[in-house]
Amino acid sequence: MGIRIGIGEDTHRTELGGPLRLGGVDIPHDRRLVGHSDSDVLLHALTDAVLGAAALGDIGAMFPNTSEENRGRDSAEMLALAYREVVAAGYCLANLDCVVSAERPKLLPHAETIRQRVATILDVEVEQIGLKAKTGEGVGPVGREEVIDARCVGLLVKSDG
Ligand code: MG
Repeated sequence: MGIRIGIGEDTHRTELGGPLRLGGVDIPHDRRLVGHSDSDVLLHALTDAVLGAAALGDIGAMFPNTSEENRGRDSAEMLALAYREVVAAGYCLANLDCVVSAERPKLLPHAETIRQRVATILDVEVEQIGLKAKTGEGVGPVGREEVIDARCVGLLVKSDG
């Protein structure tokens, strides 16, 4: 079977202070994400989607948060390395579709920049990257701006040698 689907999800807490690193882009904002790496919740979900589609495990196994070398690490670099493994396993990306849930900031003005950045990291066309933004409607951890969530599905196809 030459078609493989994968799913990725991630959540990161927020704290005061910007900018907000999302999809490999620094967005001007008064809150940022907290975590061991650069905490780019979108790129983490996306990395898990492509790794999962190729049954290559997950980002936590490939880049342990117990490792000093991953402290503050650029998630774009982790995604590029993970996708390199996917390509080595004989697959290439058909498309990704992502949903980011954040009460603030409004992501629509940054959507094209993020899509282009993700496409550049993966060396694919921007048309292969879908991105949608939701809010938490003012309720729950997303609505209270305590966290930002991301979900992503990715489709891989077997490359022809
Ligand atoms: Mg994460």
